[in-house]
Amino acid sequence: MNFKNFIKMNKRLFLLIFLFVALFKPLLLAQNFEQLRNNMVEEQLINRKIKSKVVVDAMRTVPRHLFVPQHMQSRAYNDSPLPIGLNQTISQPYIVAFMTEQLELKPGMKVLEIGTGSGYQAAILAHLGCEVYTIELLEELAIRAEKVLKELNYNNVKVKSGDGYLGWPEEAPFDAIIVTAAPEIIPEKLIEQLKEGGKMIVPVGPLFSTQSLKLLTKRNKKIIEKDLIPVIFVPMVKN
Ligand code: SAH
Repeated sequence: MNFKNFIKMNKRLFLLIFLFVALFKPLLLAQNFEQLRNNMVEEQLINRKIKSKVVVDAMRTVPRHLFVPQHMQSRAYNDSPLPIGLNQTISQPYIVAFMTEQLELKPGMKVLEIGTGSGYQAAILAHLGCEVYTIELLEELAIRAEKVLKELNYNNVKVKSGDGYLGWPEEAPFDAIIVTAAPEIIPEKLIEQLKEGGKMIVPVGPLFSTQSLKLLTKRNKKIIEKDLIPVIFVPMVKN
């Protein structure tokens, strides 16, 4: 039997295989991402002592690959930050988990994020049941993040395009503030907008060098400051 006849005879079979693959491809891919996400949680978070059950659960659930550009999706669960366009990055999974864990968040808490970027960190906060307010300087990123968050039904996130140094006075005070771009000094307005007893996590340091990730707690109107780990974030741009 020559090749032509072979194709002719098996036309139906090929059509069936084609239909099967087309129908089940999204399902197979989704399972693949789920597997990658589970590996990321085990190897990068649990092995490195991320202990909070709710944070681990959020990282296991939120589809990180949907927050990165399509050509980056296969690398979404790698142990590294990734470019998201406009010279900005989505943070490494471990850093997202570590910062979130430090804030000891509870459902219903009001949280301000500075530097929406891809929207991934905001989705993690939303998954924990917090009321999330997030500010992004670059309008294009803010619009994109808002769209993804809406598509994934994170209805407890409000995205605003604007200058994070000003905070969000209309919604203050906040139980927690997470800053995901690095200022040279801690922005005064953000300290003002933190609730008594509230926590703020922020990478602080000079431009283009390693920063120190600081955890601040407001007690009796004073700030208690603790240096956690060295980190590298994109600069928090001054307008
Ligand atoms: N949290 C993001 C990653 C943040 S990258 C995520 O989960 O993907 C840092 C972001 O901070 C960038 O998108 C950058 O545009 C933004 N940024 C820098 N300076 C800012 C400022 N002054 N106000 C608000 N956002 C700022």
